[in-house]
Amino acid sequence: MKGIVTKSTGSWYTVRLENGSIIECRLKGVFRTKGIKSTNPVAVGDRVVVERDEEMKGSVITHIEDRDNYVIRKSVNLSKRSHIIAANVDQAVLIATVEQPKTLQGFIDRFLVAAEAYDIPAVIVFNKIDLYSDESIDELEFYDLMYRDIGYQVLATSAVTGDGLDDLADVLRDKVSLLSGNSGVGKSTLINAIDPKLDLKTGTISKSHKLGQHTTTFAEMFPLAMGGDIIDTPGIRSFGMVDMEDAEISHYFPEIFEISAGCKFNNCMHLNEPGCAVLKALENGDISPTRYKSYINILKGLDDENPYRVDEFAE
Ligand code: GDP
Ligand code: ZN
Repeated sequence: MKGIVTKSTGSWYTVRLENGSIIECRLKGVFRTKGIKSTNPVAVGDRVVVERDEEMKGSVITHIEDRDNYVIRKSVNLSKRSHIIAANVDQAVLIATVEQPKTLQGFIDRFLVAAEAYDIPAVIVFNKIDLYSDESIDELEFYDLMYRDIGYQVLATSAVTGDGLDDLADVLRDKVSLLSGNSGVGKSTLINAIDPKLDLKTGTISKSHKLGQHTTTFAEMFPLAMGGDIIDTPGIRSFGMVDMEDAEISHYFPEIFEISAGCKFNNCMHLNEPGCAVLKALENGDISPTRYKSYINILKGLDDENPYRVDEFAE
């Protein structure tokens, strides 16, 4: 029988079979992920073959189909292993907010870079627009123009007034969407508003995690009544960066990458090299200074572990 893994707790896997029934399975045999050292051989979104096993007195996963893609999170410990958050994802949807809480642009840009590196289309949803001050509306417009210009889809929603929910439903319909965003931005509330039957407990999954330790958290896939699935990743605000060389980082800023074709040196890092087309575009206003700043921050390795520098950048 074939199915899709919708939840994994490490030793048990929930599998949705093609006939729609849900079963709990264990793993039989040794599975390795090519190319990375991972802590979990089977991830949410994996397409698997399941068989009844008398010895194990239950259902077991006997085969994992090749993945179209997968997103990982680097383990914080020294084992250098990665945790596969999800596999076979159609798009990555970041829920952000300009207010309550404010999502920093650096956070959004790191998310976009990771999505580019995984080659997964990204969508940015600004939620809670009902709360925004005039200043925040201006900021929303700034983001909207900037990100659309680079080619990203941007939505503005309010789970309270219902604004933008039809657009969000259109984005999610019939696709497997990995949902990310800081805690409190309204991920659960939005999904419940789109599909009341799901009844995701707002905040609970992430909050119960917060009480726990910094151990592995478990993603879960939920089917949408209108078609499609969302993968919720409690406790994981964004997915991890794939390993990338410094010289590669600019490739994941589409607008920088495009313009860099005009740089004098083909190994140009767009820092202070003569004949740099990116620096010229920055001067002309063809590249957003805040995007360029995000590029520099990622290049310098400034990230969540160096929050001071990232906050500094937000000003
Ligand atoms: P999550 O941690 O991302 O799942 O966030 P929740 O869905 O738990 O929402 C966090 C808080 O924000 C809750 O109190 C929600 O009622 C509130 N909230 C969510 N969406 C909106 C919105 O569009 N407007 C307003 N004003 N509040 C919202
Ligand atoms: Zn350059």
